[in-house]
Amino acid sequence: ATPTSIMVGTGRGAEMGVLFRRGESLQALRDVRVVALDKTGTLTEGRPSLTDLHLAPGFERSGVLAAVAAVEAQSEHPIARAITQAALAEGLTLPPVTAFASRTGLGVEAMAGVMRVQIGADRFMVALGLDVGPFAELAQALADKGKTPLYAALDGRLAAILAVSDPIKPSTPQAIRALHGMGLRVAMVTGDNARTARAIAAELGIDEVVAEVLPEGKVQAIRRLKALGPLAYVGDGINDAPALAEADVGLAVGTGTDVAIEAADVVLMTGRLTAVPDAIALSQATMRNIG
Ligand code: ADP
Ligand code: MG
Repeated sequence: ATPTSIMVGTGRGAEMGVLFRRGESLQALRDVRVVALDKTGTLTEGRPSLTDLHLAPGFERSGVLAAVAAVEAQSEHPIARAITQAALAEGLTLPPVTAFASRTGLGVEAMAGVMRVQIGADRFMVALGLDVGPFAELAQALADKGKTPLYAALDGRLAAILAVSDPIKPSTPQAIRALHGMGLRVAMVTGDNARTARAIAAELGIDEVVAEVLPEGKVQAIRRLKALGPLAYVGDGINDAPALAEADVGLAVGTGTDVAIEAADVVLMTGRLTAVPDAIALSQATMRNIG
């Protein structure tokens, strides 16, 4: 590759809203065979809303929602915003919160007033010794619709199952089709519920799904997927930074966190996911031109 063609390619990229931070990434992108993408905030908008709340016998809606929302008001997770907004939209008053703690990949817990509140994934409830069996069928039905089921425990008793739904970005289906049209394999890597992830992957025609992984698990997933060929990873979150660094080419969604942008080789200035196949096509064209 001549320095001039790299300069021209980099300039074309900038016009398309694709920022190549190093000339080598323009070259490396040409050889990519596998594109792995984070789900929340990358394939989806990253702005979920609360869609369902079913109570266990003996619990009452406004009390449960207020307690859970009060705790979630301390969290920065997109799920937390969905729940807090729903409670505020219903005009609920949130009790004061103390002893807040976030459990990575599981959920959050705190005292809301005098009540102990835990909210998170099924595996969080299992870790607390709670039986989620009574909600199992409902949880599966919610997940099969691409919603994320969550459980709330109050004072050590299972109180409710909730679900949040995060819309797929309008540009995502077209981007996946374009990547497939270029003969690439497409994978999803997410900390979200496996059944939810599979439902969304099926809707989008994604080839491989790795779900319920912690940030460190994303790195291991990237290492495994690299066996299929040179790999590009696309992500937006703090927890995507190690995976972005591990990939042959890391692409950060420009609307994401600074930590992800710093770890990436390429920055997609708009959230539009069609920038990914566009960037790969540009790298192929650039490398072809220089013969
Ligand atoms: P991702 O960013 O891919 O969703 P995370 O590790 O942040 O991955 O979250 C994984 C799972 O942990 C979520 O799907 C949810 O079940 C649970 N979780 C994390 N944070 C919260 C929270 N603030 N409230 C409820 N559940 C949470
Ligand atoms: Mg994300």
